[in-house]
Amino acid sequence: MKASQMFAPTLREVPAEAEIVSHQLLMRAGMIRKTAAGVYTYMPLAWRVMKKIMDIIREEMDAAGCQELMLPIVHPAELWQQSGRWQVYGDELWRLHDRHGRDFCLGPTHEEVITDLVGGEIKSYKQLPLRLYQIQNKYRDERRPRFGLMRGREFIMKDMYSFDRDLAGLDESYRLMYQAYWNIFTRCGLGFRPVVADNGAIGGDASHEFMVLAESGEAEIIYCSACSYAASVEIARTYLDETPKDEAPGEREEVYTPDCKTIDDLAGFLRISPEKTLKALCYQADDQFVLVLIRGDRKVNEIKLKNRLDCISLEMAADEQIQKHLGTAAGFVGPVGVKNIRIVADREVPLLVNAVCGANKKDYHLMNVNPGRDFTIAETWDIRLAEAGEACPQCREKLLSARGVEVGQIFKLGTKYSKSMGAKYLDENGKEQLMVMGCYGIGVGRTMAAAIEQNHDGDGIIWPVSIAPYHVVVVPVSDRETDQMAAAEKIYQDLLVLGVEAVFDDRKERPGVKFKDADLIGYPLRITVGAKALAEGKVEVKIRATGEVQHVDLENVLSFIQ
Ligand code: ATP
Ligand code: MG
Ligand code: MG
Ligand code: MG
Repeated sequence: MKASQMFAPTLREVPAEAEIVSHQLLMRAGMIRKTAAGVYTYMPLAWRVMKKIMDIIREEMDAAGCQELMLPIVHPAELWQQSGRWQVYGDELWRLHDRHGRDFCLGPTHEEVITDLVGGEIKSYKQLPLRLYQIQNKYRDERRPRFGLMRGREFIMKDMYSFDRDLAGLDESYRLMYQAYWNIFTRCGLGFRPVVADNGAIGGDASHEFMVLAESGEAEIIYCSACSYAASVEIARTYLDETPKDEAPGEREEVYTPDCKTIDDLAGFLRISPEKTLKALCYQADDQFVLVLIRGDRKVNEIKLKNRLDCISLEMAADEQIQKHLGTAAGFVGPVGVKNIRIVADREVPLLVNAVCGANKKDYHLMNVNPGRDFTIAETWDIRLAEAGEACPQCREKLLSARGVEVGQIFKLGTKYSKSMGAKYLDENGKEQLMVMGCYGIGVGRTMAAAIEQNHDGDGIIWPVSIAPYHVVVVPVSDRETDQMAAAEKIYQDLLVLGVEAVFDDRKERPGVKFKDADLIGYPLRITVGAKALAEGKVEVKIRATGEVQHVDLENVLSFIQ
C-alpha cells in the first residue's frame, strides 16, 4: 500500500467527544468515524485489523468443530414473542415495522432465530452435537452508547450456538469454547482473565466473561494473586468464605432485593456455584416471601421475592422428583447438575424448624409460618463476601481487584430456548428430548478497542503483530531524494514479494509528519531510509513497541524483518 493513496486521514488533535484512549486513537489514526451515535464507519485500517481478528476467530471456531453460517439481521416479532423476550428485552431491542405494520426487530443476539431454524431441521440424536456461528452486525439501542467501538448501537459480534443432546454434551461444547476463547484472545495479543460471570437476562446457570484488563474497563473484577480464581465483583460477593473469621457473626449480613419477576430472573440471581451444594428455604415474613440460601451451614444470601409464585416454584423442589423439573425450569443446569441442587424442606435443615410455607406439594404445606415464632434463622449464619484484600475462596491467597473490558462471554443456556421455541430431537429410544444449548459471543470491534487500551503510548497505538493493520512501514526521509525513494520502494516491493504486509510512505510530507503518523497508526516496524545511513549502505529499523533502533545493512534488511 502506498501511503499517498491510503485512506487514513490522521488527526493531530484529540477529538473532544473521545473519552478513552482507544476511542481517541482510533479517531486520530484515521481508522473510524462516527456516522450516528453509537454507529461507526470502519475505515480501511480498522477494517484490516477487524478482518484479522475475525480470521483468528474463524480459525479457532472451525478447529472446535463449528460451522459458519449467516442468519438474518431482521427478525420477525413472532420469534421473539415465542421466547418471551419481545416483552422483557426492553428498550435495547431495536424495533421496527414494515409497510404492512408487521413488527420486527434488528437482532441484538440470535437465540430465537437459530433455535427456530435448528429445531425445524434437526430430527435425530445422530445429528447432534451441532455448533453454528456467524460474524455479523448486531443492533442494541444502548442507553449510553459511548467509548467509540466499546459500546456501540451497531457492532460486529461473533456469536456461536451449540446444540447438544444432554448436559454432558453441553459441558463438552462449553469446554471447547472456553479453550477456543482462550486461544483467540491469546493470539490477539491480549492480557485477559476469564471470570465467573452473572448470567444476566439470558438465563442459564454457568457463564464466563473474558475480561481484558484495562483501567478504562466498565466492569470490576476480583481475582486471585496466586490461583485462577476470578469473578465479576457481583459474583465474588455471593461466594462464601467457609473459614470463620474473628468478626462478630452476622456482621456482614446483606439482604439482596433482586427484581425477580419470573423464576428465570430468580434463577439468574441465585447463580449457583458449581462446586457447592446450595440449599434454599422460603418463608413468609409480613407480606413478603423471603428465600434464604444456605451453603454448608451458613446463610449465603437472603432474597426478598416479589411474589408468591416464585416462592412456590422453588419449594416444589422439596420433592426430589420435582427437583429435576425445577432444575430445568429454573435454568439450573450445567456442571452443577440437577443432583447437586438441594432446595430443601424442613426435615433436611434441622435449624429451620417447620420452615417451608406455601409449597404446592402435599405434606409440604405449612401456611402462616412466621420467622421468630415458628422458626429462627440461626444467629451464627454468616455471609462472607469475596472482596479485594480478602482471602481467595479457592486457595486463600490474597484477592486483588482490577477493571476489565468484557470482550467475550460464554453461557450455558440449557433448555431455556429449546423449550420455548420447541427445538426437540428423538433419542435412541425414539423419545422426544429438548436440545441443550449454549451461546458464545465475542465483540470484534470491542476486542480491537481493548487491544489499543492495552497497547499504546503517548505517540499512538502499538499493535500486537498478529492483528496489526500492516507489519512494516517504509519511510524515505526525503521524497525529493531519488536514491532514497528508489531504495525505499525496492525494500517495499521486496517485502510484498515475501508476503510481508507493508506500506510505502511515498507522500510529499516532512519526515516529522511521516514519523508521527507511523507511530500513531502503530506499525510494529518502521524502516527509515535516510541520506546518512544510505551512504553507508544501511537503513534504520525501529521497533514500535520498544522504541529500539537498529542500523541494518541494506542487503540484510529482508532477513532482519522476517
Ligand atoms: P455489556 O455487559 O458490555 O453490555 P453484554 O454482556 O451485554 O455486554 P453480550 O450479550 O455478552 O454483551 O455480547 C457478547 C459480546 O458482544 C460482549 O462480550 C462484547 O464483546 C460485545 N458487545 C456487547 N454489547 C456491545 C456493544 N454495545 N458494543 C460493542 N460490543 C458489544
Ligand atoms: Mg449489554
Ligand atoms: Mg455483560
Ligand atoms: Mg455479556
